[in-house]
Amino acid sequence: MTIASREYWQERARTLKIEGRAFIHGDYCSSVSAETFDCVSPIDGRVLARVASCAENDAERAVRDARATFDSGAWSRMAPVARKAILLRLATLMEENAEELALLECLDMGKPISDALAVDVPAAVRAIRWSAEAIDKIYDEVASTAHDELGLVTREAIGVVAAIVPWNFPLLMACWKLGPALGSGNSVILKPSEKSPLTAIRLARLADEAGLPSGVLNVLPGYGHTVGKALALHMDVDCLVFTGSTRVAKQLMIHAGESNMKRVWLEAGGKSPNIVFADAPDLQAAAQAAAAAIAYNQGEVCTAGSRLLVERSILDSFVPMVVEALAQWRPGHPLDPQTNVGAMVDRQQLDTVLAYIESGCSQGARLRLGGQRVLEETGGLFIEPTLFDQVENSMRIAREEIFGPVLSVIAFDDAEEAVRIANDTPYGLAAAIWTSNLSRAHLTAKALRAGSVWINQYDGGDMTAPFGGFKQSGNGRDKSLHAFDKYTELKATWIKL
Ligand code: NAD
Repeated sequence: MTIASREYWQERARTLKIEGRAFIHGDYCSSVSAETFDCVSPIDGRVLARVASCAENDAERAVRDARATFDSGAWSRMAPVARKAILLRLATLMEENAEELALLECLDMGKPISDALAVDVPAAVRAIRWSAEAIDKIYDEVASTAHDELGLVTREAIGVVAAIVPWNFPLLMACWKLGPALGSGNSVILKPSEKSPLTAIRLARLADEAGLPSGVLNVLPGYGHTVGKALALHMDVDCLVFTGSTRVAKQLMIHAGESNMKRVWLEAGGKSPNIVFADAPDLQAAAQAAAAAIAYNQGEVCTAGSRLLVERSILDSFVPMVVEALAQWRPGHPLDPQTNVGAMVDRQQLDTVLAYIESGCSQGARLRLGGQRVLEETGGLFIEPTLFDQVENSMRIAREEIFGPVLSVIAFDDAEEAVRIANDTPYGLAAAIWTSNLSRAHLTAKALRAGSVWINQYDGGDMTAPFGGFKQSGNGRDKSLHAFDKYTELKATWIKL
């Protein structure tokens, strides 16, 4: 049995020991109420674990502990080089346990094992390692002052950080927050999505093994309206970082305003335009990328290229190329390393996506590919990648974030119209442009109201570049040194010499 076989992963899944408890002050524990919820795999409906259903009193306990740990200085005042060493050890431990982490991610949220292993886990490791490496290379500032004064501009850890994350890239989204949040010396309470809590719970033990002092990283699984809300409203949480839907993001801003004006940083939804001009350098590559941009991770990607804007003169030749490319993305068993489309995360998400497909048909878009639930006999939640053309940007499938593998093709006549349609959305997370014309590439990139713009590719980037949205896609940025700004307060110290 090799790692490239489904049998290998099925056998590993069969013998996997799954932890479902919360993690507070360096150890696993039940929720105060002892309540649990079933963590169900979307692959076959199997209950993977009973997971602690944390609520307000668990938040209370974790925040108290995180505050005491922060105030003790055990982590917050540790030399940066020592914090760096611990986080680097965590990255190494994640690598050593990569197969287990990938397997948990696959079983828990339904993504293909090959993606979890090749993308999610290595990217999460890189997020921790990159942030760790940065810790002792970030300098503070000395202000320009009169001769007899000294002005220091320093960054200080903010205190207790609550990180609320979604289910589509559970470990990776957590690590984008944890790297700079822990790196800056904060104590963190991580609340994973109730739909995918398992890797966060496992990560807590690895952090402990790496030498993170008890109380620095706590993990509270549970529902958004219980423990998530309690953290958002807590008077002793200094900073709330969030990745998830725009709807919940807005609610969190209200909760911050209703409580202690905690800093709130939001990474929210998207409806990203992928603009293909007739002079694209390689239309075949553009078609392949357009398919991947909507099918990868079952379309459950904040930056999914869900609106494909195509110059009208190539519509008839280009759309069939995309249909052909998208047809290569076929739902299959997520534990099979050959599978490139896994299961939708849960029944609710499956129904939401099917309802959007229905709405596309009833609003007059033309269904060119897919549109059906498949493999129902497996007990799993699978949908065929789906393509609509003749879509108007006013239709629901073009305006609302579907978060599934449903692509809308919209025609445009010139660059001005492309930009107008692209920007006609409440979101502003990402966009892509395909053209050979250098000036048009730059001018269009400048005109697009989006946090990431890709030219002649889709979804490029690295830890070296900030990631986040304009407009209702959020504020603040994950990744890069800019991410550290969210987890620190600026202090000016002015000294009379
Ligand atoms: P969601 O907003 O439903 O949930 C996100 C998290 O918030 C979960 O942990 C949930 O339990 C919690 N939550 C829900 N209600 C809450 C409340 N009232 N108070 C506090 N916490 C609450 O989002 P989701 O369905 O898990 O994830 C999908 C969304 O995430 C999509 O909109 C997607 O675009 C977005 N996303 C954005 C990025 C980005 O970087 N911009 C990345 C990945 C996903």
